Amino acid sequence: MGWRRPTKMLQWAEFQVEAGRMFALGGRRMKRRFLSFPAVAMTLLLAGLCACAPRISSHLPTTATAPPQATPTADPYQKPREHMVEFDIEARGVSDQDVLDAMRAVPRHEFVLPEYVGFSYSDRPLPIGYGQTISQPYIVAVMTELLKLKRGDRVLEIGTGSGYQAAILAQLTDEVYSIEIVEELHESAAERLERLGFDNVWTKHGDGYYGWEEHGPYDAIIVTAAPDHIPQPLVGQLADGGRLVIPVGPQGAFQTLWLIEKHGEDVVSKSIMGVVFVPLTGGPSS
Ligand code: SAH
Repeated sequence: MGWRRPTKMLQWAEFQVEAGRMFALGGRRMKRRFLSFPAVAMTLLLAGLCACAPRISSHLPTTATAPPQATPTADPYQKPREHMVEFDIEARGVSDQDVLDAMRAVPRHEFVLPEYVGFSYSDRPLPIGYGQTISQPYIVAVMTELLKLKRGDRVLEIGTGSGYQAAILAQLTDEVYSIEIVEELHESAAERLERLGFDNVWTKHGDGYYGWEEHGPYDAIIVTAAPDHIPQPLVGQLADGGRLVIPVGPQGAFQTLWLIEKHGEDVVSKSIMGVVFVPLTGGPSS
């Protein structure tokens, strides 16, 4: 609801403008007439009125003079989120405006445990229980940018975790599928995504190593836990022209983030950067 200036305040403002104009005129006359008596009298009168102004308004009835209420901020985290996008993400090279807008739009504080809410917009991963973490915002943005999503793309995520990455993807395209191997995490993420209105994300509890064949092929696949090799079922579920973004490497040691693109029969891999992810469990060795 907008705040409307009370009528009395408006009158006072108009008076000040009018008085200012008169004062200016008086000033000009003063020069010409060498401080004539009427000019001096007018100046003193106006100075007196100005000095009284605060007291006048403080005596007016509350309803007429209530000071403008600070408009309640709809989202108290908007500023820290904006700061995160500007300094931790954009300043470090992520330039896709749609990705930046998605990072600006999704309330990360809704995806972290209550005890970590104060760190929601720090550029770091945070525990989400069961030995898992919500990824660092910068890494979420980098991986999302690498997917080169456009409207209509079908995306698969392996490792729903808190649901945050899925929510970012859901801002950029229409169909997001996400698989989580820890049942409790799957349940809480599904509830959270529903509560926040992300109705274009479909989740399931299961082993993401094998993908989700039923809804494939996918234009993009993102894996948010690190296997020690690239799962072939995921490459198999990529559409022609599809992109797979995946960290690969041993647990707790050096892992590499890969961008893998499928062009017909060809699969082109590009290493992007060193990363640290929780391990991808499941798969054939489990
Ligand atoms: N994308 C998440 C972060 C996930 S952390 C977020 O935005 O919050 C990695 C997640 O991958 C963990 O929740 C872990 O339980 C899950 N995970 C590990 N191995 C998996 C597998 N084989 N299939 C599906 N999920 C797996």
